[in-house]
Amino acid sequence: MDENELNLRPNQIPEELKGSIAVTTLDRIYNWSRRNSIWPMMFGLACCAIEMIATAASRYDFSRFGMEVMRASPRQADVMIVSGTVTKKMIPQIVRLYNQMAEPKYVIAMGACASGGGPFKEGYNVVPGIDRFIPVDVYIPGCPPTPQALLNGLITLQKKIDSESLKSVRWYQKGKIEPIPIPVLGPDLIDPRQSPLIKELCQSQISNVSPAGTPENLEAHHDNQLD
Ligand code: SF4
Repeated sequence: MDENELNLRPNQIPEELKGSIAVTTLDRIYNWSRRNSIWPMMFGLACCAIEMIATAASRYDFSRFGMEVMRASPRQADVMIVSGTVTKKMIPQIVRLYNQMAEPKYVIAMGACASGGGPFKEGYNVVPGIDRFIPVDVYIPGCPPTPQALLNGLITLQKKIDSESLKSVRWYQKGKIEPIPIPVLGPDLIDPRQSPLIKELCQSQISNVSPAGTPENLEAHHDNQLD
């Protein structure tokens, strides 16, 4: 780390002791070590993933940020780069992978699709943004974002990590961090967190059905027709 970046008050260290002594905080050391070794999870969803792969290759080379070790296991990854169109079919898998990542963990929504549905926003099979299901730390606009844009997003994530404090980070708070309920994919996607709302809406619709539409009345109507 650069001396001025490491030391809280670089000017107060005597010249002869510079290089041997550092006056800093635990937060700075802790955040510095984490921000320079963010390992991304190795997965991609659509065309944006090609740009992510290009960012990892030699021309842009995100190993300069300590991020070159893409992990095939969520248990060893620190950041999930959601790169591509998020279909309803993929949501249960993405949430499951997010739950399997160990804290501290971060999420980057790369591109218009992951951030808000993109050109497929109104599609029957696409969710309008991954942030409906998992918390997102950095959004990267573009369709697709260029490798430079992804690098800028990673630098933004580093700045966010710099601003965190050991006292307030969620993974050192008391109590268990509950996993996100895995959405259920049936005829459509159901987020279990919305179950009370769905139940309430269904009940209000049932109670609004006119008596003529109840199953008993429909049966009687059918019998009359046969007579
Ligand atoms: S944002 Fe554009 S480039 Fe990225 S996955 Fe969607 S359609 Fe493809």
